[in-house]
Amino acid sequence: MNPASYDTFEGVRTYKLFIGGEWVGSSRNLVVDSFNPADGTIFARTQQAGRDEVVAAIDAAHKAFGAWGASLASEREKILLKTAEVIERRTPEIRDMLIDECGSVFNKALWEISYVTDCLVSAAGDVRHVMGETMPVTQPGQISMSVRRPLGVVAGIAPFNSPFLLSMKKIAFALAAGNTFVLKPSEETPISGALIADLFEEAGLPAGVLNVIPGVPAEVGELIMADPRVKLVTFTGSTRTGRKLAVEAAKHLKKFTLEMGGKSPLIVLKDADLDYAVDAAAFGVFLHQGQVCMANSKIMVEAPIFDAFKERFVAKAKAVPVGHPRETTSVIGPLIRDRQVSFIDGQLDDAKAKGARVETGGGHEGRYFEPTVLTGVTPEMRIYHEESFGPVVSLIRVEDSEEALRIANDTEYGLSAAVITNDLQKAMDLSMRLESGMVHVNDCTITDEPHVPFGGVKNSGFGREGGRSSWEELTEQKWITIQLGKREFPF
Ligand code: NAD
Repeated sequence: MNPASYDTFEGVRTYKLFIGGEWVGSSRNLVVDSFNPADGTIFARTQQAGRDEVVAAIDAAHKAFGAWGASLASEREKILLKTAEVIERRTPEIRDMLIDECGSVFNKALWEISYVTDCLVSAAGDVRHVMGETMPVTQPGQISMSVRRPLGVVAGIAPFNSPFLLSMKKIAFALAAGNTFVLKPSEETPISGALIADLFEEAGLPAGVLNVIPGVPAEVGELIMADPRVKLVTFTGSTRTGRKLAVEAAKHLKKFTLEMGGKSPLIVLKDADLDYAVDAAAFGVFLHQGQVCMANSKIMVEAPIFDAFKERFVAKAKAVPVGHPRETTSVIGPLIRDRQVSFIDGQLDDAKAKGARVETGGGHEGRYFEPTVLTGVTPEMRIYHEESFGPVVSLIRVEDSEEALRIANDTEYGLSAAVITNDLQKAMDLSMRLESGMVHVNDCTITDEPHVPFGGVKNSGFGREGGRSSWEELTEQKWITIQLGKREFPF
């Protein structure tokens, strides 16, 4: 990384803030340790933005908007493609940062990086397609059109679980549309924010177009929401935080998008190929130790195949390798924080006390949680309703697809859902009736592409991220008319 981005004290780097194209310290003099979830060691530190730095970051983004908002499509394309190139070249360094900072296992880190390069290329490809329309008229001699304009300063608040991907997806499409950006990374993964600034800096992004300010979440959030120069706040994180931000946004009449939590159902119908269904189900809940918003943490299986599915799925869960994230063979690495381990322990204690059976797992060594499979889960249990954000899954026997659908929809969430069957009539019917922003047939619930309308319904959020649907959020339409000749007025 650019040596200007950090100071080193006793061998540990303290990263600075990135504002107006400069690496700056905070006047607040508050520094926070980042712990490596794999072993609890201090991995780095970051300066924390205070009020002055938040205002300075918005000032810088606001000032940069004049030129960036008016830049040629080809200039924005070039920067996005150049950033993708820089990322490809610096993949080993980014991979190691994702492993050390957020406990990504080796292969998940590589997948995350490849998604980000794909996302930048996809956003670059979209730059020339942010188009307006011409409209029919009812007034003689009028030409009527809409043009799309960038909003101005966009602020992004990102979660810890895929910090590189989820921040970059917001930034790439916002910049492509001509907006400037202020990023507040998660307090668990602030170095990924510094790294993103460093990558864009190397690619030649003009000063002020991207600013990165880790800080105390509620303070930064409040300042961002209250500043009228910030035209959109795009948030990804828990429903609890999203709800708080929505209240702030309402106070200031701020436009915002929310990508929030999930309790995503996977339905396995009786005609499913069992081995395939087991593989899909396992990937869908054990990837990144279950810390994925789309994780299929509730699996409904039709009665005739339930026992066979359970037997194979439990065997698969027992065989999922748990280990240090730097080991290329590890599938399950550490959870992000001790608090998350205690939270899942609490859910499991509650479920066991109310009659659930732990078919495998249930324990942990430090932050390394065993792949855990529960049966006998009922609506009285917390785990039936709550997101776990860990490698824990409930297997539920259902009599038919209607019961599966009822249980799938019996949740406050509505992010992703999946159905495994070869009966496409039934699959399509369920897809239409599942209360979910995304449904995947013959797949698990975890799948994502930069150009699709990604997002949820119910308490999983509103607004969509990705490709063309991003333009709805990231640009405003302006209606313009031109009168040829003279309009006739009634008086
Ligand atoms: P979180 O809600 O704790 O934090 C998310 C972000 O919000 C962080 O940057 C945090 O610092 C910030 N934040 C917290 N309180 C704030 C406040 N008062 N004002 C402003 N910002 C504030 O979530 P997390 O633990 O980082 O991430 C896990 C959650 O995110 C899960 O619920 C998961 O389902 C969800 N998630 C959703 C998606 C999606 O696309 N729908 C993707 C990834 C994660």
